[in-house]
Amino acid sequence: MRNAECGLQSCELCPRRCGVDRAAGQLGFCRAGSEVEVFRYGPHHGEEPPLSGTTGGSGTIFFSRCTLCCLYCQNYPWSQQGDGATYAADAFAALFRELHAAGCHNWNLVSPTPWIPQVQQALTRLQAEGIRLPVVYNTSGFESPATLAAVEDTVDIYLTDLRYACETSAEAGSGRADYASIARDTILEMWRQKGPLQLGTDGVATRGTICRLLILPGRADETIDNLRWLSDTIGPGVAISVMSQYTPAFRAPAVAGWNRHISRAEYDRVADVVGTLDFDIGWMQEYAGDAPDELIGFTMPPGSGI
Ligand code: SF4
Repeated sequence: MRNAECGLQSCELCPRRCGVDRAAGQLGFCRAGSEVEVFRYGPHHGEEPPLSGTTGGSGTIFFSRCTLCCLYCQNYPWSQQGDGATYAADAFAALFRELHAAGCHNWNLVSPTPWIPQVQQALTRLQAEGIRLPVVYNTSGFESPATLAAVEDTVDIYLTDLRYACETSAEAGSGRADYASIARDTILEMWRQKGPLQLGTDGVATRGTICRLLILPGRADETIDNLRWLSDTIGPGVAISVMSQYTPAFRAPAVAGWNRHISRAEYDRVADVVGTLDFDIGWMQEYAGDAPDELIGFTMPPGSGI
């Protein structure tokens, strides 16, 4: 594992490159401090099938704080408002041990970017104890090349988003016009590092890359643009996960254009294109209107090789 690139002093862990000294109490955009903050952790059975696995579930750690500020964020109490508890190094390592002892198939780190130094310290300790699970890096895709290089030997599976395809939407939805260009570079680097999704004999993922595409209201064309870009640039080997669960949360209920679920017609347009692109492996959430997320299942898209 390489730790040197990932310091809290002069933090540049994400593309914002705040340069603040978090170890000395300074706070950058994400307001992450020096002690890791976690909102919730435990086995999760609602991830893509090779991550949730059979009985153990995905050992998910929902970190507090986030490097983006999406106006529709469903996790805003902890991503934007900082809900959660701080963990000193011993307690944080114990959390990983607990998920391993519970039989989880992997350690699924949700929005880990501000906490990479602490994660690497904890995983180094566990490795010394002979405790190992596949590490899932579950991210918005807003990543810096230096951080991706620093976690190359730590991470086994990348689970990354690709949401917008134009600057206007990215600025309106997440406050970063450059999101699409950064997220596309991110997945190219992830693909270079880990390549296609690899499954064990039990169907559980051991290594690889999964790209999530959340269909946004009024922006199905951007999902289609990203699907075509993935197919043309990486090819059919990249695992895709098309998500229909957009919910107008956080600030979105008050913002025109973002204050509704996606329509059946928008979903069908994306599904039609997925069916023509022949990705080798992938999933598409069923269309469920305004059903709660936990009731939305994954199905295999037409043309999927699995
Ligand atoms: S991780 Fe947080 S403090 Fe560090 S550069 Fe990104 S937003 Fe700034």
